[in-house]
Amino acid sequence: MTLHIPFDNSYARLPQGFFAPQRPTRVKAPSLIAFNHALAEELQIHGTDDPALAALFAGNALPEGATPIAQNYAGHQFGQFNPQLGDGRAVLLGEVIDRNGLRRDIQLKGSGPTPFARRGDGRAWLGPVLREYVVSEAMHALDVPTTRALAATRTGEEVYRDQPLPGAVLTRVASSHIRVGTFQVFAAQRDYDTLQTLFDYTQGRHYPEAHTPSDLLAEVCDRQTRLVAQWMSLGFIHGVMNTDNCTLSGETIDYGPCAFLDAYHPEKRFSSIDRFGRYAYAAQADIILWNMAQLATALVPLTDDQDKAVKDFTEIIHASADTLRAEWTRRFAAKLGISEPEPEDAQLVSDLLGLMQSGASDFTNTFRSLLDGAPRDQIADRVGFDRWHVRWQERIRSEPDPQALMAASNPVLIPRNHRIEEMIAAAVQGDDSLFHRLNAALANPFEANPDFEDLRRAPTTQEEVTATFCGT
Ligand code: AMP
Ligand code: MG
Repeated sequence: MTLHIPFDNSYARLPQGFFAPQRPTRVKAPSLIAFNHALAEELQIHGTDDPALAALFAGNALPEGATPIAQNYAGHQFGQFNPQLGDGRAVLLGEVIDRNGLRRDIQLKGSGPTPFARRGDGRAWLGPVLREYVVSEAMHALDVPTTRALAATRTGEEVYRDQPLPGAVLTRVASSHIRVGTFQVFAAQRDYDTLQTLFDYTQGRHYPEAHTPSDLLAEVCDRQTRLVAQWMSLGFIHGVMNTDNCTLSGETIDYGPCAFLDAYHPEKRFSSIDRFGRYAYAAQADIILWNMAQLATALVPLTDDQDKAVKDFTEIIHASADTLRAEWTRRFAAKLGISEPEPEDAQLVSDLLGLMQSGASDFTNTFRSLLDGAPRDQIADRVGFDRWHVRWQERIRSEPDPQALMAASNPVLIPRNHRIEEMIAAAVQGDDSLFHRLNAALANPFEANPDFEDLRRAPTTQEEVTATFCGT
């Protein structure tokens, strides 16, 4: 039986310049690690056997109806503009319309070099593939807008990073792969006709109500600032918020050296290449506005009155800072059981974070313990905590159902860094059981489950992961 994917490929119908046609490169011995059946159903993809799935999702067999392409984009990487990036090791197979009528991209990542590969090998190793699979699916279960993982396969080939490592391919699903960097590539080339075509395509696909560049910018700013506030409320650090890793759809994309906070510290960063903390935990709130300013810059050539556009766009970005702050307060207040926060509730949140910071409290466990644990044990400054606790209790006295709100806002489980590393180490040895266990546990992150109690535990000093590597 062959796999039927009901493709309808709109991006591949766009003009030259948007992409390069590129078939995935065959690999030696594809084998399936995981196929996300629930997501496949959502996409109306109907099944086949594992070897056939492995051949398809490692890139050896091209599904009927696919028009494989590598997409073109530019981007600011750590603040430096690179006018030519593009998919160096990813191939968009095509798009499907899902059960809810939404257009979704299906992309292979690690499927061989493309014309945009520059000096890269076009490949991915098993570690980042499994990390992205687990973390993106966990983010989805945590209710965060994100790309999804449809499949992971081993290639049966080695890739060379510092050492030979097992190769793998991730199949990713996104509501599109349009990035801030996609606008930047045509703006940098001063190809304003193509830029206009991209605008029209993006508007049609994501923001049918946005008729002007101002409208589009405002919508994207709204989604991106809400997204980052939500990341922060879960202790998530993306790690590489380059403009090529920042979507127009508002979905989280490109899980590289991402990590969740263990001990709370606002300046925490994990990524070994983020030497100056540009993308540190709390810096994310500023960087997303910087990224939106780059999108604004790329949109200016599409306007008639450019002086007015600059003024309007500046206002939109300033207003986004307020959206972010309000959304941050709303999300963190909800973690404390406050349903309709007042501006002064931000102080109540900050004071708790301050106590957590000074005692290096575990972010996830401290918040959850306010609902169903012993929060006093999580905070080193007991006296300070007792004082805070009185204020908090006072504040939520009038709340109708603070417990329900807290239960839905404070996960029990997150993909902890040391568990991810442990899972990758096992998979490199050929044991995928930890990978499957993590996926099973993280499918219901807001529910305490006795089978997964061990995954709640914060790392010991020995277990703690201090750096994550792009090493992709
Ligand atoms: P990333 O850090 O994954 O967001 O990638 C940044 C840029 O480098 C993108 O243009 C990627 O396509 C490209 N890239 C990353 N790794 C590779 C690789 N192994 N081979 C070719 N291109 C790559
Ligand atoms: Mg990227």
